[in-house]
Amino acid sequence: MIIAVDGPAGSGKSTVCREVAKRLGLRYADTGAMYRTLALASIREKISPSDTNQLIELARRIPLEIHTLTSGRFEIFLAGEKVTETIREPAVNQIVSLIARIPEVRTEMVKRQRALAKSGYLIMEGRDISTVVLPDAEFKFYLDADPSVRAERRWKEDQAKGTVSPLSRVQEDQAKRDEMDRTRDVSPLRVASNAICIDTTGKRVGEVVHIILGKMNVKREKFNAFYAVTRRFLWLLAKAGFGLEIQGAENIPQHGGFIIAANHRSFLDPVVAAIASPRQLTFLARHTLFRNVLFGILIRGLNARPIKRASADRNALRLAAGLIMAGNGILLFPEGTRSADGGFLTPKGGLGYLAVKLGCPVVPMCIKGTFETFPRHAKWPRQGKISVRLGRAVHGDDFGKGIDDGDLYLLIVKEVMRNIEILFSSA
Ligand code: C5P
Repeated sequence: MIIAVDGPAGSGKSTVCREVAKRLGLRYADTGAMYRTLALASIREKISPSDTNQLIELARRIPLEIHTLTSGRFEIFLAGEKVTETIREPAVNQIVSLIARIPEVRTEMVKRQRALAKSGYLIMEGRDISTVVLPDAEFKFYLDADPSVRAERRWKEDQAKGTVSPLSRVQEDQAKRDEMDRTRDVSPLRVASNAICIDTTGKRVGEVVHIILGKMNVKREKFNAFYAVTRRFLWLLAKAGFGLEIQGAENIPQHGGFIIAANHRSFLDPVVAAIASPRQLTFLARHTLFRNVLFGILIRGLNARPIKRASADRNALRLAAGLIMAGNGILLFPEGTRSADGGFLTPKGGLGYLAVKLGCPVVPMCIKGTFETFPRHAKWPRQGKISVRLGRAVHGDDFGKGIDDGDLYLLIVKEVMRNIEILFSSA
């Protein structure tokens, strides 16, 4: 699998590509680093940025060594010296685009970039990857963002690394580089005709990554007409019978797999969740529910999949992971079982495991009123009001790195439950 990503400086390419690489186990290649290393070498050899011949000669002989790792890490070496950080210095910023516009320099770099891509399983970022370097890449993305946002991102990155240059200087540098990259004669920065454009302004890394993964995977669940008709019917019933109110449905992503995590108090909860979700959900249901053949056929037709509680949670997680990876949304109850008294129970870690391993968003859903209308031992629902609130998705990558996996899973689950409780108390 080869993914090509282009876009201007500060559009979020590097961070996003590294994350996608990690999640999909691809190698990651930053082609800007190659031009930067060439620029660094020219500074060290005191070659003027206007000395085209010497620069071409340097591009042909430069001893570049590139390590692309599936962990999303990327290291570049100049004559054996690791320069991954050094090439980010302002002196390099100032001349790199001047050098990158020389056609023969590009030919040389493109040759090396194509060689890197030979073994496949790679995500490569730059300015001309989807248009020139790898025009046959299976997936092409173009990232962009407001110029001021892009400049601020770069400035913050520089600050974090201890480089102190005023924001106005970063803005100026960037504008100059953008202009040169867009207007050069050879391989200018432009959107490939078949690339998917993503505006990263105001989006977190996890969101952009999720969009990319959504576009690459089976994009969405398969449409189930029986489910759609039943949902519509139940929606009307719930509106009329329980005055059902839904808020925050826009928090459900439009593409790719996701999890809805809801509090659980009643048999009605899966039905209410299905009504509230604009995308069709898949449900993991106790296999005993499928014993009655007719009921089994009915719920299977409504996207329920059997799990054996007795065979431990591992199988359920495996099934859930497969469904999410295929682009489905699944409903999980982090508390595991229905609450007997309408209060919250201690959540289990499985949800956190899925969120981290699959990198999928977890949308917290608070269901209120089902306990009162259909409590645990009731035979029939009673009159009452039901409301549903969905919160902003929680992403596994919002949480501290370096935490032990088990702790991280629990941390995420607790955060999801905390969000559900907040939604509950404000509903
Ligand atoms: O991506 P980054 O900002 O590190 O790239 C530095 C410069 O390298 C860009 O401004 C551009 O001039 C050049 N470049 C290029 N083609 C690429 C990647 C980078 O011309 N594929």
